[in-house]
Amino acid sequence: MSAVGPECLYYSHPGLDESEAALVEIDATRREIVLDRTLFFPEGGGQGCDLGLIGGVAVESVVESGGRIVHRLASPLEAGPGDRLALHLDRARRRDQSEQHSAQHLLSGYLFRNHGIPTLSFHLGGALSTIDVDLRDFPDSLVEELDSEVNGAIARATPFVLHLCPPEDIETLPLRRPPPGEEEVLRVWEIVGLDFSPCCGTHVESAAELRLFKIDTTERYKGKTRIHFVAGDRAVAMYRRLHRAAGAASRILSAPPEALDEGAERCAKKSREAASRADRLLGILVGRLVDAAPLGRPLALDLSGAGVEGIDEGMRAIKAREMTGVVSLAETPTIGIVGKRGESLPPELLAAAKTLGGKGGGAPGSLRMAFPDPVAAAKFAALALGILENR
Ligand SMILES: [Zn+2]
Repeated sequence: MSAVGPECLYYSHPGLDESEAALVEIDATRREIVLDRTLFFPEGGGQGCDLGLIGGVAVESVVESGGRIVHRLASPLEAGPGDRLALHLDRARRRDQSEQHSAQHLLSGYLFRNHGIPTLSFHLGGALSTIDVDLRDFPDSLVEELDSEVNGAIARATPFVLHLCPPEDIETLPLRRPPPGEEEVLRVWEIVGLDFSPCCGTHVESAAELRLFKIDTTERYKGKTRIHFVAGDRAVAMYRRLHRAAGAASRILSAPPEALDEGAERCAKKSREAASRADRLLGILVGRLVDAAPLGRPLALDLSGAGVEGIDEGMRAIKAREMTGVVSLAETPTIGIVGKRGESLPPELLAAAKTLGGKGGGAPGSLRMAFPDPVAAAKFAALALGILENR
């Protein structure tokens, strides 16, 4: 980023929310403009751009292009070169971006100072932000250490100090990473007692402004580690959301919030036991229904309410007793057909099922079809029973 000068009000007056500027250029769409000075930080270095209003029109994006700062507006601007325009900065967004970005400096600073681990890239996301670091395995103990270090700096209100450094003097500063090449004056951010880093982004003045920091997750990414983290207002909002969800889960599971994992495991175990009991009972019920049916005729077995397992259980029981039959399930709606052992089902059965909108298939001697509605399924069941009876 090369635009450093009095026209960059986001550098010279970082606390300014309102200002005015003269229009220098406007394109044919009237939505891309260049000003003689600007409040709006253009995206760069992993940080998003500032937003707000220019001449009452919403700013959609701000980028640096060919040494100029180009503002893209949400709708056409009715103004010409030389006109004075009011600038209004979205301070909440600037504060949020500065908080996430400054948290990244702290995180990268401690990773480097404590373990010599370099940060490879930074991305400021919509919910969480990430850095990629040159480490394959990232132990939980390191997550705890970094959470503790960054929150310690927040508690001590560690200052962030800006040094404007001519390139020829850069050797005097112990930089964590090399500076960009083309700058006239380098912007180097010092976190007192921790880190010196060349950076064009916007920052807090004290770590205390972050209030809270948390590493959310770490994941293996292209042989390195990607760390997802959150700070500032976002971290406080995330704590509130999780606290609310934990409270609700605690009531549902009848477990204290600090033992939700044990409560969830108890609940999952009960659920597995209940499912297994339901399967056994379904097996007993279906077995008795099939045993009670008259021999020598195809069996019509309605297992509506038993769920998809009902079809499997019914077809299995009919096959096991070497009978033929039609199993119906209204809720899906699904029909299962079991023909005579060792014989293929008549091809007209599959054709009839397809005509009624059925989808599915089966092994030789059996068929399982799902229908778009219960009426089509019932029609097919009656038809199939007739075909089985006449064989
Ligand atoms: Zn920075």
